[in-house]
Amino acid sequence: MECMKTVQIQCPFCGALNETLIDCSIEPPEEYVEDCEVCCSPILLVVHSVDGEIPVVEVHRENE
Ligand SMILES: [Zn+2]
Repeated sequence: MECMKTVQIQCPFCGALNETLIDCSIEPPEEYVEDCEVCCSPILLVVHSVDGEIPVVEVHRENE
């Protein structure tokens, strides 16, 4: 079943809250990069699990 969930992530560079869509049909762990809407820095998102409806997402600086 395909679904998309909106999650809030905090930019590790500037601290701004960004909203991103997570595809619940992925197989965790999944990593991908999104640019911060505020400072345009590349944020590495790591989806650890999609437990029912709420994806668990960790954020890192891409270059770490
Ligand atoms: Zn930012």
